[in-house]
Amino acid sequence: MYVVQIASECAPVIKAGGLGDVVYGLSTELEKQGHCVELILPKYDCMRYDHIWGLHEAYLGLEVPWYGSTVTCTVFCGWVHGRLCFFIEPHSGDNFFHRGLYYGAVDDHMRFAFFSKAAVEFLLVSNKRPDVLHCHDWQTGLIPVMLYEMYGWHGMERQRICYTIHNFKHQGIAGADVLWATGLNREDYYFQYDRLRDNFNPFGINFMKGGIVYSNHVNTVSPHHAWEARYSGISYGLGHTLEVHNSKFGGILNGLDYDVWNPAADEYIAEPYSKDDFSGKVKNKQALRERLSLAHGDKPLVAFIGRLDDQKGVHLVHHAMYYTLSRGGQFVLLGSATESGINDWFWHEKTHLNDNPDCHIELGFNEELAHLIYAAADIMVVPSNYEPCGLTQTIGLRYGAVPVVRGVGGLVNTVFDRDYDAHHPPQERNGYVFYETDNNALESALDRALGLWSVYPDEFEKLAIQGMSCDYSWKQSGEQYIGVYDHIRA
Ligand code: ADP
Repeated sequence: MYVVQIASECAPVIKAGGLGDVVYGLSTELEKQGHCVELILPKYDCMRYDHIWGLHEAYLGLEVPWYGSTVTCTVFCGWVHGRLCFFIEPHSGDNFFHRGLYYGAVDDHMRFAFFSKAAVEFLLVSNKRPDVLHCHDWQTGLIPVMLYEMYGWHGMERQRICYTIHNFKHQGIAGADVLWATGLNREDYYFQYDRLRDNFNPFGINFMKGGIVYSNHVNTVSPHHAWEARYSGISYGLGHTLEVHNSKFGGILNGLDYDVWNPAADEYIAEPYSKDDFSGKVKNKQALRERLSLAHGDKPLVAFIGRLDDQKGVHLVHHAMYYTLSRGGQFVLLGSATESGINDWFWHEKTHLNDNPDCHIELGFNEELAHLIYAAADIMVVPSNYEPCGLTQTIGLRYGAVPVVRGVGGLVNTVFDRDYDAHHPPQERNGYVFYETDNNALESALDRALGLWSVYPDEFEKLAIQGMSCDYSWKQSGEQYIGVYDHIRA
């Protein structure tokens, strides 16, 4: 099968969060299972060019229709750790992808509407006719719309679309200008509730809704979050749309790239280790302590890695930090915030705790440091308000760091409470789960983890190794996606 993934991220070259990991990991798995995969991405100025091999111009003078005229683009081609990627670079005064950022510009809706248009136009003129286009998140939500309403009439009527929603919070709401820019035009037609009109903002079109309405299959990134999206109102206003399109909606758990995330062969960590030889783990703990000037000693190391965002339960992250310190543990936080209030808050904490030998707060994005933290940590906290899938708990499991999580979304599908899980036998349990959003709830789970670490260290190590034995690789999830592709092609 010939599959083209179109997305705004692909790790490690463009990564703001889990989307990048998923796009790369799934593509790799599909290739492993014998399929041909290509990726189309924006050519950002700030991406990690050191992770691209053989970058060269592949298509010069791609004329992308835009506002009744055209924007000339160059399409570059290169390999990102074995995956063939096409990068679209527009030449216009808008400088869409030369902003020193991936997201967060005021005209993001225009930037990604343009990217979507350019990606389909590139497929059309370069005569690429994949069996399946796999689009991800709101940034590519207009692709199924354009394919069905426009490009299907120009020789792309056989292409099928799988649309994956990684986060319902960001949907891409825009005015009619996007319709005129992309050539979809027909405002009256698209401003219908059964097409693109936002369910709650009558003056806006909704990219993600377009993706849901026009794709052949829609999924989110875990079975439990698919359930939540339909029944618990976590879909940020798209519940009715999902209800209408229920027959083509489901959940597929994100996998983890076990080659990228492999403590036995990770170039960023101090000492390799595995579930059969766990001794290297403690050396990584020492290495992290040295790197971050933390005190040495017999203390549990608790870590949080992730976006500092309301979604991630920042108040509970904050509480976990102080609670761990009060219980005599160490805490390491690696995160970045886009909201200034949260950013200021954690900068304040960083300054406040600067001289504390048991705590380190690293604000920013640092892939290499993240690997070392996973390898060093005894416990990973993931107290999310909601979590479509979550990767930090599965990476933690892979690195023998016991996850303490809130029981929402994909966390429910991956972490099973050591003491209370009723559905898994003790030998399959791998962490600690709490459900409410208050400090006491977090404490109840973190306390049990810290208690086991200090009172029954052998049992704790057994639990960590049990976690390492879980299989959250892409194999099974990749097969499920192939099943979806086969289904929509039939
Ligand atoms: P998200 O909601 O951000 O997609 P996930 O848990 O699905 O959350 O994926 C987060 C991914 O991003 C993981 O690979 C995690 O290690 C990585 N990550 C998040 N924040 C940072 C950071 N500040 N530095 C390095 N890696 C990070």
